[in-house]
Amino acid sequence: MTSFHGNSPCWPRGNIANASPAADSLPALLVYDADVTLISVRGSRRLAYRDFHQGYKQTALAADELIRDISLPRRFSGYVSHARKVGARNAQAISKVCLAALGIIANGTIRDVRLALGSVAPIPLRLNETERSLTGKKIEPSLIGAVRQSVVGEIRPIDDIRSTARYRAAVAVNLVVEFLEKLAAERTRA
Ligand SMILES: Cc1cc2nc3c(=O)[nH]c(=O)nc-3n(C[C@H](O)[C@H](O)[C@H](O)COP(=O)(O)OP(=O)(O)OC[C@H]3O[C@@H](n4cnc5c(N)ncnc54)[C@H](O)[C@@H]3O)c2cc1C
Repeated sequence: MTSFHGNSPCWPRGNIANASPAADSLPALLVYDADVTLISVRGSRRLAYRDFHQGYKQTALAADELIRDISLPRRFSGYVSHARKVGARNAQAISKVCLAALGIIANGTIRDVRLALGSVAPIPLRLNETERSLTGKKIEPSLIGAVRQSVVGEIRPIDDIRSTARYRAAVAVNLVVEFLEKLAAERTRA
């Protein structure tokens, strides 16, 4: 387990507390199965990060609580990891869509895959159905076609000042496909 503690300067806990569905660190916390520790004068409690977001900018934090630390289990050794954000510019660009992904291939088929997207729903979203549909499969053209439909079925993008729902859906699908192509290529190299 790797922990990022109270005084660590390198992990933006405000990014988590803000709970913007466009924040870039949040999909990574989902795919890595993070835990957060919340503290207040009443004591501390540990929460699976997947239970932290309860609605658009709504979190499990009580009014008197702070995020003390974030823990990531060390059980993803050997996985291919991938993170991408798509924004209007190279810098100072809040994401139109962002992705974090982990995957591992064994005997030519996907043994495990973990996909999470930001900016495509009121909360950062794990693609549970798409993951299930990929597990145990070979990465080949027919699978890619099915994945496109599955991703579109799971996300709930909106039109807003940064993008359109249609564009976000197209980008979300392309980011997932890009990751699967990377996963297949890594396997070929291994
Ligand atoms: C110009 C600009 C560009 C940006 N671009 C991006 C981007 O590309 N991607 C992205 O993900 N985000 C982006 N952000 C948002 C940025 O990540 C947030 O501002 C985030 O809050 C920064 O984290 P911080 O730890 O500095 O939080 P702060 O800014 O210090 O705090 C933000 C909020 O979180 C609360 N908070 C802070 N720490 C804790 C804690 N430990 N427990 C409970 N509540 C806490 C604060 O009270 C406050 O309400 C951008 C912001 C700006 C202004």
